[in-house]
Amino acid sequence: MLLKTGAIFMQLRFLGAAGTVTGSKYLLNINNKTILVDSGLYQGVKNYRERNWAKLPIDESQIDAIVLTHAHIDHSGYLPVIYKNGYRGAIFCSHGTFKLCEILLPDAGYLQEEDAKYANDNRFSKHHPAEPLYTVDDAKACLNLFTPVDFHQHTEIADGVFLTLRHAGHILGASTVELGNQQDNIIFSGDLGRHDDIIMRAPEAIPACNTLVVESTYGDRRHHPIDSLEFLANAINATLKRGGIFLMPAFAVGRAQLMLHLIQELKQAALIPNIPVYLNSPMAIKATSVYNHFNKEHKLTAEQCKAIDDGTEYVKTMEQSTLLISKVMPAIIISASGMATGGRVLHHLKNLLPNDKNTIAFLGFQAAGTRGEALVNGATRIKLHGEYVPVKAEILALDNFSAHGDYQDIIDWLKQAEQLPKKIFITHGEPTASDAMRCHLKEQLGIEACVAEYLQEVEL
Ligand SMILES: [Zn+2]
Repeated sequence: MLLKTGAIFMQLRFLGAAGTVTGSKYLLNINNKTILVDSGLYQGVKNYRERNWAKLPIDESQIDAIVLTHAHIDHSGYLPVIYKNGYRGAIFCSHGTFKLCEILLPDAGYLQEEDAKYANDNRFSKHHPAEPLYTVDDAKACLNLFTPVDFHQHTEIADGVFLTLRHAGHILGASTVELGNQQDNIIFSGDLGRHDDIIMRAPEAIPACNTLVVESTYGDRRHHPIDSLEFLANAINATLKRGGIFLMPAFAVGRAQLMLHLIQELKQAALIPNIPVYLNSPMAIKATSVYNHFNKEHKLTAEQCKAIDDGTEYVKTMEQSTLLISKVMPAIIISASGMATGGRVLHHLKNLLPNDKNTIAFLGFQAAGTRGEALVNGATRIKLHGEYVPVKAEILALDNFSAHGDYQDIIDWLKQAEQLPKKIFITHGEPTASDAMRCHLKEQLGIEACVAEYLQEVEL
């Protein structure tokens, strides 16, 4: 029974993923305890990325506990900064999220160090010498604070504050986060998967709650039903016929594993020829082994995981990667990052974009300001490693393979809840998508939801 007596039990402040899809951070005050839900990096547009360097409006050592919805860097990648600034409390998340963060966070630290090195070598930083946002060592140190908990386990994470995680679909380990005390509760959707994802199960229904914070990445869009295997097969075959290479920039965690699986299915059904498949991302290779390990958390069988292993060439070292980039042959290559913001995929793009034989297929949401967004919107040239590269290759946006549900998935998920939330705050969307989500919630569920604004503080 949820009772309220007029007193303020909770306060919520939106420190990220408001007006944009990255930088997720929500500061919750409950029982006089300060809980941070998600601690993500901003990616994409420069104005947003600069916020990664701004001081949080709270002293990090005053935070009592941190909870993560899932491992993606735009939800976890700010943790090493918080550690660096003095946070030494626990970081609660699912076991899968912890295993993936063990891979993703040190890599993020490495990329930060590389960025600083690049800025120093090219002398374009305002600061001399340019310092990394954090280092590999900071990232490794903050992993010691992780405290994984089981799904559905009711855990007291601070005096009188309880946490329950439920499956959110999306990627391995992804959870909705319920936080509450005796009187009140709030649920954070994190990133929600779809009802018909090929490898992840549908998001689990939530219990009654007073407040819900819900994502809206695809608040203004519907996915076509996942029957796009034929479309994928046709696109691959057309590329091979031209003698080109089919490159998929993919998120190392989640979409890379889905595509590896689909390619094996297409080969087994003889819908595409038996050409080499390369996974050129050390992170994605490690993430694939985590998916194999947590095989109860997704739909892939042991045989399907083995088919991926047997049918994929894992490109581990930089030398192997360089060799692959210079090869000319029909092949499917999956490489990270998914929005072409960094990583080995940039070398492939530099090599493949200027030739109209090749195809570049983007697989999910491309945040504003990323190279991925520019390419799917028809850019005729893009900047890679300091030089402009002409875009001649075919560019495809395979939104149908996104790991996010569309607005109807979210509404249908809400309809399964024990009862509808009393208040809803919409986050994690570009402004038009979040506003469209607000309209859909009103039309279909009669709920007056509120689109959250950056730094807005609300009393619940
Ligand atoms: Zn995500």
